[in-house]
Amino acid sequence: MKQASIGIIGGGLTGLTLAYLLQQQGIAATIIEARDRIGGRIHTVTPKGDTPIEMGATWLGKQHTHLLQLLKDLEIGIFEQQLGSTAFYEPMSINPPQLVQLPPNSEPSYRIQGGSSRLIQTLADQLKEEQIQLSQVVQSIIQKDTQIAINTNKTTYTFDYVISTLPPFLLAQKIAIQPALPATCTAIMNNTHTWMGNSIKIGFRFKEPFWRTRESSGTIFSNVGPIPEFYEHANYEDNLFALKGFFNGAYAPATKAERLRLALIQLRKYYGQKVDEYTSYEELVWANEPYTFESYGNPILPHQHNGHSVYRQAYLKERFYIAGAETGFASPGYMNGAVESAYFVFGALNASW
Ligand SMILES: Cc1cc2nc3c(=O)[nH]c(=O)nc-3n(C[C@H](O)[C@H](O)[C@H](O)COP(=O)(O)OP(=O)(O)OC[C@H]3O[C@@H](n4cnc5c(N)ncnc54)[C@H](O)[C@@H]3O)c2cc1C
Repeated sequence: MKQASIGIIGGGLTGLTLAYLLQQQGIAATIIEARDRIGGRIHTVTPKGDTPIEMGATWLGKQHTHLLQLLKDLEIGIFEQQLGSTAFYEPMSINPPQLVQLPPNSEPSYRIQGGSSRLIQTLADQLKEEQIQLSQVVQSIIQKDTQIAINTNKTTYTFDYVISTLPPFLLAQKIAIQPALPATCTAIMNNTHTWMGNSIKIGFRFKEPFWRTRESSGTIFSNVGPIPEFYEHANYEDNLFALKGFFNGAYAPATKAERLRLALIQLRKYYGQKVDEYTSYEELVWANEPYTFESYGNPILPHQHNGHSVYRQAYLKERFYIAGAETGFASPGYMNGAVESAYFVFGALNASW
């Protein structure tokens, strides 16, 4: 059974980790990816010679043991996120922002040296080029006896085993499955939250880290917005500089120019005209990414149904698995959950042959 053909829908961290694990066992799985790039919700934007900016996943912690083990196996280092000893804090619009002391960071967070996409690229480098099929939008999954057909916008693939790594809500909304999955499973998928699916990330590159003075800070917490959180985003070598954070997701329908204008108005409150010396601006509105997010019909709470037990069963005559960060038992929704879910399916496949 080790000769079984395996199709993995989605070339994000879950899909690539699973393909990497199978590859180490001599099984060449095929990844079918809708976008023209790999990485999914991991996307480091790195113009040549300029500061890499994370538009997706950025931070990990020491509790993310599955992810840390994978990074160690791949010999990829991490470095501590610098928060500094102070932060700009803006509790309400009628008071000016204050520079407050931050308590000592007892649980620091870390970033991946070279950027989060380095992990993605290192995993992809273990595979042959033809194992990653880009720009293939899966539209239906159809069981045919002991095999499963995957129909995309361009072609049909047939495999012995198929693993979806899409956020489960997206899988339920966008891909027709025949025969239908059990009603309980479909109901859970239709109410499973996609972590950060409707967030907006923005970042500014600078020549110098002008905020590294006693009177300033690269860390911002604001209840006024539209930027609620902003952080120092220098590279590991600390020779390329940026500030990066979140923008209120309600501004997804606005134009890029409007978000930039509002961001600069807010940042001038802390940095004055210095902020206008930015060398470039990046943003990514995840709610406008059809291969990550689809609007929820009814309200779904953050992490709702993440790590649910329906994601630990095989379907379609034990030939189909639902994986992905939101299905992980450990830190679901996060990179660690993605890696854990890949390890789970890898173990389940191994047990089935
Ligand atoms: C803005 C943002 C910030 C985040 N910050 C952090 C953080 O700091 N720390 C952390 O641990 N996690 C963070 N996350 C979460 C982290 O990015 C995810 O947990 C992880 O990347 C998910 O990996 P995945 O492979 O399970 O899913 P995805 O990355 O979503 O991969 C799914 C793949 O399926 C593809 N796909 C979708 N539809 C189809 C289709 N029809 N046919 C074929 N392919 C399809 C997609 O293009 C995508 O490549 C963040 C996410 C975002 C968006």
